[in-house]
Amino acid sequence: MTNPWRAVCLTLFPDLFPGPLGISVTGAALQKGLWELKTLNFRDFTNDKHRSVDDSPAGGGAGMVMRPDVAARTIDAALDLAPHARPIYMSPRGKPFNQAMAKELSQSQGLILLCGRFEGVDERVIKARRLQEVSIGDFVMTGGEMAAMCLLDAVVRLRSGVVGSAESLQEESFEQGLLEHPHYTRPREFEGQPIPEVLLAGNHEHIRQWRKERAKQITKERRPDLWNIYKKAHAS
Ligand code: SAH
Repeated sequence: MTNPWRAVCLTLFPDLFPGPLGISVTGAALQKGLWELKTLNFRDFTNDKHRSVDDSPAGGGAGMVMRPDVAARTIDAALDLAPHARPIYMSPRGKPFNQAMAKELSQSQGLILLCGRFEGVDERVIKARRLQEVSIGDFVMTGGEMAAMCLLDAVVRLRSGVVGSAESLQEESFEQGLLEHPHYTRPREFEGQPIPEVLLAGNHEHIRQWRKERAKQITKERRPDLWNIYKKAHAS
């Protein structure tokens, strides 16, 4: 049997994991052994009596920087646990994470996610261990743990067997380059708003067309950036 897909999170706060990844869909998959989650604490890879993981920035200025030697030893230990895993540094300077990247990473042989704290990690370890920098958006958090969890949630649910119906993955936002159409369920009328008639009439082709039109309209209104890409790809 092949080894389960493994993620190793490098953190100063291993108690944060699995956190939200331990419940519902991702948690059930974890229990079933469809994927594995390990943590390594940078603190365990220090070699001074104060167990220091950070130091003041060269050149001065505010904050502290994570030491490259400690980070490198932690990454090397992670590579022992997951030899073919992709090493990633969660970082606001990174490539913006999106669904295409989630798909690509879901086909990797595992992930090593370095979760920064303070001002982040010494630049030299990024280079020395060829870390790919990935950002979850244009904002700054205090640490990379929640960023790693966001990334893992999006990646793990694309792995085979994790989400019940493969169909539900295909119709989602971004999948066709569009945001998803709106959803409705019972009751038939909610605070004066009925469910659109077409969804109740039972003509599957009409429903498909209606959903596609709504998806296009919503994308056009909310995300002109995505809409322009979609239009170009479908211009004939
Ligand atoms: N000084 C850095 C920010 C450090 S924030 C800068 O200006 O770029 C501390 C840590 O939080 C980072 O090392 C990173 O691991 C994590 N982090 C913060 N915001 C993030 C984001 N948008 N995406 C991914 N990781 C983030």
